[in-house]
Amino acid sequence: MAEVLRVSCGGLSPQEVGARIELRGWVHRRRDHGGLVFIDVRDRDGITQSVFDPAVASAFDVAQSLRNEDVIAVTGTVRIRPPGTENPKLATGDVELAADDVSVLARSETPPFPVNVDADVDESLRLKYRYLDLRRPRLQRNLTIRHKLVKAMRDFFDERDFLEVETPALIKSTPEGAREYLVPSRLYPGDFYALPQSPQMLKQLLMIGGIGRYMQIARCFRDEDSRADRQPEFTQLDVELSFVTEDDVMALMEDCIAYVWRRALGIEPARPLPRLTHAQALRDYGSDKPDLRFGLPLVDVAGTFAQTPIAFLAEHARAPHSRIVAVRYPGGAALSRRDFDGLTEAAKGFGAGGLVWVSFSGDGWKSSIARLLDDATVHAVRELAEAQDGDALLLVAGPRAAASDIAGRLRLHVGERLGLRDPAAFAFCWVVGFPLFEHDPDSGAIVFTHHPFTAPAPGQEGLIDTDPLSVRAQHYDLVLNGVELGSGSIRIHDVALQRKVFEILGHTRAEIETRFGFFMEALRFGAPPHGGMAWGIDRLAMLACGETSIRDVIAFPKTQAFRDLMMDAPSAVPDALLGELGLRRASRG
Ligand code: ASP
Repeated sequence: MAEVLRVSCGGLSPQEVGARIELRGWVHRRRDHGGLVFIDVRDRDGITQSVFDPAVASAFDVAQSLRNEDVIAVTGTVRIRPPGTENPKLATGDVELAADDVSVLARSETPPFPVNVDADVDESLRLKYRYLDLRRPRLQRNLTIRHKLVKAMRDFFDERDFLEVETPALIKSTPEGAREYLVPSRLYPGDFYALPQSPQMLKQLLMIGGIGRYMQIARCFRDEDSRADRQPEFTQLDVELSFVTEDDVMALMEDCIAYVWRRALGIEPARPLPRLTHAQALRDYGSDKPDLRFGLPLVDVAGTFAQTPIAFLAEHARAPHSRIVAVRYPGGAALSRRDFDGLTEAAKGFGAGGLVWVSFSGDGWKSSIARLLDDATVHAVRELAEAQDGDALLLVAGPRAAASDIAGRLRLHVGERLGLRDPAAFAFCWVVGFPLFEHDPDSGAIVFTHHPFTAPAPGQEGLIDTDPLSVRAQHYDLVLNGVELGSGSIRIHDVALQRKVFEILGHTRAEIETRFGFFMEALRFGAPPHGGMAWGIDRLAMLACGETSIRDVIAFPKTQAFRDLMMDAPSAVPDALLGELGLRRASRG
């Protein structure tokens, strides 16, 4: 008898015709047709059709009993499909396996949702039965792309002499702004480890430790309020290197993104990646993570309203910390009143009090405040915003930060409506020149913009005491399609400067000692200048896969409310266990 080859379900082609093959996988679909039984067998690699003839009675009887998702091993001979029965949708669609033997390795109950079609299924059901969802092509494709992205990152850094170093998951709390998960210690009741929000201090300590070039695919944990696109744990590409400038790190990471996109997706991003300052990004796009897949920059039109009798516009035209911004809507003159009402509602949802619109056609202009406007003002606004016949302008007025934010969101909304936010297009950019500190709007206190280890721009150290809010950071963000992929900076490597930054942030000497004493001490033993960056791999994979939710690129994600529906976590533990940890159960309201 001929040798039996074991082949994956995607691996057969006309070249194997005549070969004896064993396929192992899941019953994707069974069809009884014309006296024959057809079983599509599926594994991660693909699907192959096997055909059972009643002439081989034992195999035929088993085949007749098979149901979707049973696990089987089928043996038979590869043959070309009869003309007219080829399936061009399958990679193996020119051939089939004439089966003569089949064994059932495991039976499956009826799955709670169909695994063999790409139908929409309620997400909570998908998450509860994630192992079934994982069998579907979409997640198999996404996890494959994610693997390729991460593999390319590792190769890139390996080729450049970086070491992948594992840092611990049980550490002391680190100050990066987010709330931390605490882990009680049985051996030291009442004391806690913290799970890292990122390996920030540890990677800096690796630089002090002379490692020089470090990378890690690092798991990070943040106990923040749940939001649509957050997970309590996430994965970062974490990088740090010694003796570098901002430009060195950005050049390296730009090479890395180009390498990763080329290797994992076969796409060459246009380079050099555009660079915007933080101030430019807010001015032109109303966001520090601008979506550059389309233009339509915001235009300041306050000057045209300097003399206006319209009170709310006059107020913002004159106030030094206000803006009046126009968002251009190409083709917007064709919108109906109802459409404009919808846009006004959208603007209110973004925090606007209301929305002024003006539209232009060959015959003149129309506006939501037509009775209050005059031709000269409208003409001046139109000139500034470069509106064409057929366009509309959406005007937002308010305090600078709020008006920029609302106009930025409206710009994205317009881009979305016009189909300009193509998920298959990739527009990367750098944002640089962030402020080192900012005002916390709630408390009024000075807080760090990113984290307290970021170095001020060279020569600005002196301003930290006199005018901290004017200090620029040696910080850079990488943005893709309006999503922040990651942040990095040159770090403070001088102990006195690090102490000063902690003090400006309101820490007492005693607090600095108890919380960061080990780190401050390390800075005294010859810390090299160093810097680095981290990228969120979940977000990066989401965009690379053309998905809109990070949950679709994570094998076992938590829900938007941070619950694991499959394992049912978090969940209660026995009181005895709590006692061992020196904890008591909190009453549940
Ligand atoms: N630790 C930072 C973060 O997690 C990244 C960095 O500065 O390298 O955002």
